[in-house]
Parts: sequence; C-alpha cells; structure tokens
Amino acid sequence: MPHACFGQVDPPVLRTSLLTSVEMLEPGTSVQFVKGIGPHRAAILANKGIHTVDDLLHYLPFRYEDRLNPRTVAELRPGEMATVIAEVRNSGIFRTSRMPIFQLTAGQGRAKLKCLWFNGTYLRDRFQPGQLVALYGKVDTDRRGELQIVQPQFEILGDASEDGEADDSKAAMSLEVGRIVPIYESAGQGKLTARWFRRIIRSTLESLTPDLPDSIPAAVRARLGLISPTESLWKVHWPDAGESITDLQSSRTPAHVRLIFEELFFLELGLELRRRQQKSQTGIAFQLDDRVREAIKKILPFHPTSAQKRVLKEIASDMQTSFPMRRLLQGDVGSGKTIVAFEAAIIAIENGYQVALMAPTEILAQQHYFSARQILENAGYRIVLLTGSVEQDRKRDIRRHIAQGNAQLVIGTHALLEEKVEFGKLGLVIVDEQHRFGVMQRLKLMRKSADESEAASGSTRITTRSAADAEPDVLVMTATPIPRTLALTLYGDLDLSVLNELPPGRTPIVTRRISDERSAEVWDFVRKQVSAGHQAYVVYPVIEESQESELKAALKMYKELSNKTFADLKVGLLHGRLDPELKEQVMRMFQRGELNILVATTVIEVGVDVPNATLMVVEHAERFGLSQLHQLRGRIGRGAAKSFCVLMTGGKISEEGERRLDAMVRTNDGFEIAELDLELRGPGEFFGTRQAGMPDFRVANLIRDRELLEAAKREAAVVVAGPSGEITQKEIDQAIRQMRARWHSTYGLAEVG
Ligand code: ADP
Ligand code: MG
Repeated sequence: MPHACFGQVDPPVLRTSLLTSVEMLEPGTSVQFVKGIGPHRAAILANKGIHTVDDLLHYLPFRYEDRLNPRTVAELRPGEMATVIAEVRNSGIFRTSRMPIFQLTAGQGRAKLKCLWFNGTYLRDRFQPGQLVALYGKVDTDRRGELQIVQPQFEILGDASEDGEADDSKAAMSLEVGRIVPIYESAGQGKLTARWFRRIIRSTLESLTPDLPDSIPAAVRARLGLISPTESLWKVHWPDAGESITDLQSSRTPAHVRLIFEELFFLELGLELRRRQQKSQTGIAFQLDDRVREAIKKILPFHPTSAQKRVLKEIASDMQTSFPMRRLLQGDVGSGKTIVAFEAAIIAIENGYQVALMAPTEILAQQHYFSARQILENAGYRIVLLTGSVEQDRKRDIRRHIAQGNAQLVIGTHALLEEKVEFGKLGLVIVDEQHRFGVMQRLKLMRKSADESEAASGSTRITTRSAADAEPDVLVMTATPIPRTLALTLYGDLDLSVLNELPPGRTPIVTRRISDERSAEVWDFVRKQVSAGHQAYVVYPVIEESQESELKAALKMYKELSNKTFADLKVGLLHGRLDPELKEQVMRMFQRGELNILVATTVIEVGVDVPNATLMVVEHAERFGLSQLHQLRGRIGRGAAKSFCVLMTGGKISEEGERRLDAMVRTNDGFEIAELDLELRGPGEFFGTRQAGMPDFRVANLIRDRELLEAAKREAAVVVAGPSGEITQKEIDQAIRQMRARWHSTYGLAEVG
C-alpha cells in the first residue's frame, strides 16, 4: 500500500525480519506488524482505511483536549465547553417514564459535578469509585441550579485493564494528563478506543525510521514554510504545550498545514500531469477565419453578453490549437450556455466535422433539438435527434446519416451515444451535464476518448475516430455551479470557463417562503399572474420518480387544482412516468402558452424554457436539496417580466432545512448557493451521489482547506512546468513517484507522468 510523504519502500513482508532486529518502522510497513496490533486489530483498522504505518500516522485526532490546565469543577460556568478531570464518587441508573438514565457524580474535594447519559444502561459497570475520569462536554445546570454535563465524552484515566494489556500505568498516564491530549475517533464499535490509538500511535512514532525523505521539492517547501514530515507527524499527534488550541481544533498548526498541503499537492500534481498528457495528444486544429466568423454571426439571435464573448474566445482558442480541448463550461441556469455551445458547433461544422451534443435526459435532448432547429436550421445546417423514443427504422436511417457524415449536429441522450454510434468525422463532443450526469461517468467518457484501448473493458464509449485519427474536442457544460474547491479536484484536469453574467433585461427573481396553511393566498397570487397573461409552475416533491406515494400525492393535488381551484384555467401535468410523446406534447403546449399552469415534478428542472412563466410555487420546499431548488427556480426569471418563487413549507423543518430555505430567499447567486450546499451536505453528497468520484482524502477537507488547495494547484503547476532555477529534474521525478504511490487508484493518476 502506498503512502504519502516518503520515497518508495520495500514490500511489508520483506521488512518483518528487519523489524525484529532493529525495531524500526518504515512508512510502508503493514500495521499488523506493529507491536500491539496484530492481525485481529489490523482487520479493524483496515475498515478505517488504515493499512500501513503511514496510514496510521495520518489518522489524525479529530479534537484536542487541553489537559495541561484542566478546569476545576469550581471554575466551570454554564454554557461553556470544558474538560474536567475529577474522581468518580458514585454512579447508577435511574428510570424515568421515558427512558433509563445513567448518572455519574464526579468530584474534586467538596465540589461536585453531575453527568447524565440518556439510555445509558450500557455504562452500568464502567465506573468504580476512586477512578480518575476526564469528562468533556457542554456545562449546564439542572433544575436546582447544580452543575451538570449531559452526555459528556469521557475517558477513564490510568485504567490499564481497558485494553486487556499489562501497562505501565504511570507512563500511560503521562499521555493522558498534564498536556494537550489528542482525541481520536474510536474504531471497531469501540474496541479500539481513543486511548488505545494514543498509545499505539505514540509507540509507532517512537519506532519510526528517523529521517523520512521529503518528496516536496525544496523550493516549494521554502515558499510555504513547510516543516519536515517527521516533525509534522509528531506535532500533529503530540502538540507542544504552547500550541494554540484554536489552531489545533481548526487544523491550522504548522504540522497540520504541512500534512494537508502535502496531500493536496500530490493530487494536484497528478491532475496537472493528466492535463498535460491530454494536451500532448493529437487533436484537430480547427480554422477560425472570417468565413467561420461570419457563419457564427449569422445565427446569433441577440447580442452575446460579454461573459459569453469571453467564454467563446476561450473555447475557440482551444479549438484552434492542435491539442484536444478538454474544457468545462460552468454557468448558472439561464446564463446562456446553449448559444455558446452552438457557436462552438459551427466552428467544427464549418471545418467539415460533425458535432455530438449529449443531454442527460430525453426532454432536454428534445429541448436542445428544438432550439438547434430554430437557430441553426435556417442557416442550412443538418441536425438530427437520436433518442430512445425514435422508432427502430428511423433510428437505422439516422445512424446511417451519422456514419456517412451527412448529419452535422447529432443531438441525443448519453444513453444513446453510449451504444456505439459510429461517426463519419466527429470533431467536437458537447456534454450538457446539467447536474444529473455523474462525474464518474464523465471521467469514464473522457478516458474512453483519451484512450481507445480501454474500450475493451466494456464501459462507456463513443467511437470518436475521425478520419485523421485525431482526438475530438470535448466541452462539458454544467448548470450546477461547482464550488471552486470541487472544480479544482473533480475537474482538476479540465480547463475552466465560467459564465458569470446573466443576459440583459432580466429582473431578479423575488423568492418568498410561506407556510402551506396560507395556500389560499398563494393560489390567489397564481390567479393574478395568470390574469396578467403570465404562466405558472406548481412543483411537487417527487424526487425519486419511483416513489409511488410521492407521485400519488402530486397527482391528487393536480386533480384538485385542475378540477376545483383552477377549474376555469388550463392546467397541465408533467412527470417522469408519462410516456415521452405525451411529455413532449404537454411541454410544447406550455411553451406555446396553451396552458396557464403546469403542475410538475422535478423533471422540469432540466426541461422547458418558457420566458412567459413568471411564477413558481414549490410545495414542501423543505424536502428539496438546495441546488435542486436553485435549479428549479432557474426555470423562471427568463423573460423581462418580474418573476416570483414561492416556497411553501409545512410541518417541522430541520435546522439544515431552515438554512436551505433562508439561502434561497436571500440570494439568487448560484455560486453562493453551491458553496453553502457543499458545506451542508459535504463533498460526497454534493452531486447527489456517493460515487461522485471524490478522492479519498486522509487529512484534507475541501470545505476547510480551500486556500491550501489553491496553493497546491499553483505549486503543482510550477513543478509540471519542468526543471528551473529552483527545481531540479531529480526533485520532479521524486515528486511524481510519490504522486503515483499515493494516488494510484484515483482518476487513473498512476499512469500519468
Ligand atoms: P442555460 O445556460 O441555462 O442553458 P440558455 O442557454 O437556455 O441558458 O439561455 C437562457 C435564455 O436566455 C434563453 O431563452 C436564451 O435564448 C436567452 N439568452 C441567452 N443569451 C442571451 C443574450 N446574450 N441576450 C439575450 N438573451 C439571451
Ligand atoms: Mg441549458
């Protein structure tokens, strides 16, 4: 198993004999050979992703306790978080009508502190009078005004029997009190306690080979003021007495900074190398002469925004070079990505190449097809739509057109293009990812087009061969603004373009939150908008279209709205289970203004563009994710008239739900919302899927460590640029070896370099 900060080491097996003679641990040594671990505990550690000594040493405390100056009971104040070391006086269980409660009284002299654990039966035999315990938690007072801590974290100090091992308790005690003590998450359902980790990590550090090589080039280290690997490992576990508790808790001590930077640096190094490798392949150098420029100008239905101009320039200059474009275009909903995509398409088509435009859903593919026909067909471009609902015969025809190179712009869903579609001369692939198309899928796709030989593995593949065997350009578009930290990691191998400006003439959407008890007022407002000639969406939370009960609730409301509340208006229904033809029909009717109100599930997120729709009512808004709400809201505010988004909520709402709703009311800025969504849900959930292809960080945290990530990216670029006055080839080679070892399984980074 590879490791982070040190050079290559021998396989663990070879090390064991050495180990007994010199008792030295190498970073790559398997943890089961560490004294005090063995195969059984090694298995528990493996579940935590700890395989080697190096992994173990990167198992960082999640918290530190200042037991250098623990508070005395008499000093405690209600409301504060505090650590107290006191003696067990008595303990026992008492039952209330609702649950058993375990109560412990700890004391110092005459001062006493009560601790309570709800449902604490499991603690029955844990404490003996006279034991010393460390207690950590929020201090408050009981009804009689006496101090207590409810559900404190605790540690019985100097109780050697806990781990079933003989122990010099005085030496062990010195790790527990009179210092800043590291607190680790326990493992194996409490079998390996924080205390156990303290001792094992301590002894591992003591037996660690003394001079660990540093694979970060010296110039980079100097620029960031990084301390050595050995020092940082010691200090992150056993901070000096003078270390700031605040810095420790926020992972900002020099030791933390070194370890976090290192992890991010090698990841970014891998991504930079990947990017360079992609660029070294042969791509197509498209011509961008006056004729092509004229062709682009001819199709434009409006003046592009300056953001659209800038982004097109970035795309066009990629397309003109002879390396394949790998670019991510981010733009909030409504920022006008479509026209940019069409402009890029024209460059390719005017150069005699074909373009594939892939959408995540059929509705969206159709929508693109409609706009493409509106905008491009008059100019004589040949456009085809290839989706699942196209009849077999027709499909065969279309495929032939594509293979012969007649079809110039092929629009389809990802699914379809995944069934080997042969292109005569494919020059540009545009992936409209919205937020539904998984990042992993994209990575696969990129890899396929980057490496034909992998096609044998049977996964996603587009036949991208062009006549000259050059790689087609790839433009990924996403409507989910991606927080920069994620963009730098998940998309670190792509160039980024951001459309950060909305087309002119839009009035900002006004968002309000209303309790669903006031729905009558909301329906009145809907009626008012409709009387003014506008249209409205009413959205129900059928988040998984497979959820029978959710769908039923939505259908019931549709009946009520269409038969009673708005019996005199035209109300349509759109949900994921309708057959595609009907869906399309409903969508068209709404688009043409033949429906006043569209009752819909989340399918409209990626659906219709109807500038006349000025109102969106979202029922049970608390049940939607933040980015999802933002996506939904993006369906309105597309015209000049003022638009309104009404978030109806009912029942009890979680604290997180409140924060989501507040954010929606407060801002329309997709990037701000994305940052908050990331913070609330964490990177793994951000894309709505756990397999989003997140790197498995040991110490870094993308939300907390944004600045270090930026620095890592900067420094990685310096290293990839090659030897210079400050960095030698030898240092570069060493860093690349380290990158491979650490990130061997991520994004295929091991192969680059
Ligand atoms: P998205 O980025 O969400 O895909 P679209 O490309 O669908 O956004 O554009 C949203 C709307 O704005 C469309 O109706 C489009 O025609 C319009 N639009 C795009 N760019 C401009 C512009 N520069 N000026 C005026 N309207 C524009
Ligand atoms: Mg779009």
